[in-house]
Amino acid sequence: MQKNSVSPSSPAPDRESLRPDCSNCFALCCTALGFSRTADFPIDKPPGTPCQNLASDFSCTIHDSLRPRGFRGCTVFDCFGAGQSVSQNLFHGVSWRTRPETAKDMFTAFKIVRQLHEMLWYLTEAAARTFDPDTSHQVDELRTTIENALKDPQQVLALDLDALHARVRSHLMDISEEVRASFLATGNDHLDTALVPGADLMGKKLRSRSLGGADLRGACLIAADLRACDLSGADLLGADLRDARLEGADLSEALFLTQAQVSAATGDRSTRLPTDLSRPAHWSDNG
Ligand code: SF4
Repeated sequence: MQKNSVSPSSPAPDRESLRPDCSNCFALCCTALGFSRTADFPIDKPPGTPCQNLASDFSCTIHDSLRPRGFRGCTVFDCFGAGQSVSQNLFHGVSWRTRPETAKDMFTAFKIVRQLHEMLWYLTEAAARTFDPDTSHQVDELRTTIENALKDPQQVLALDLDALHARVRSHLMDISEEVRASFLATGNDHLDTALVPGADLMGKKLRSRSLGGADLRGACLIAADLRACDLSGADLLGADLRDARLEGADLSEALFLTQAQVSAATGDRSTRLPTDLSRPAHWSDNG
């Protein structure tokens, strides 16, 4: 596999503020969001209401047995740090329980801020992985625009999210193309015409394939067999990896991977992840 020999234009980014810190959050994912009875949740819960398992101190009363009780979705969800940002920065550490009149705005802000933090998650990686200093600079400017908006609840509520999404998407696609091109090499299986953005690859057997530089953005990889695959430089933006098998797979240089995608998949100690993602506690110790 041929990789670009020059260094990306920015050093490895710090995504610390984009990781959930439940101890500083008023359980906004357990209240603001709704969920329906599915394989990931055993109950229906309307948005804007506390989950039946939420304790008065904002902890989860079944935290240690979420998966056995059918709340798998709770072990996968990632707020990208929006919970503590809204709770502590926008609403100054005063909870919706203390001031119920703020609940509606707080829950609305949480849903928006989660999207903004998700954009920042991707943009941070994008700025670090492009080899073009001008592109990196443009991405940094967009990040600054979002970070400035995050300082004021009124600005957050007034944002044109669709326009922002479009700008972010455009940068991510350009940088994906640039990064994936650096992984182009004859023999890579990404030339397979089935491996395209949005492809339905549910249950597909891809074991040990070299997928470096593949564009799998938005692909359905539910229960796909990706064991021992090389996914270096593969664009996995929004790919559905639920129950995908990742034992022995190398995702250490995959593009636009999130903790939620990793947590929804299955893997073990032999799965290689990007340095800023964690091995889920429920993964096997084998490998
Ligand atoms: S089960 Fe626990 S983690 Fe899941 S929504 Fe309810 S309180 Fe939150």
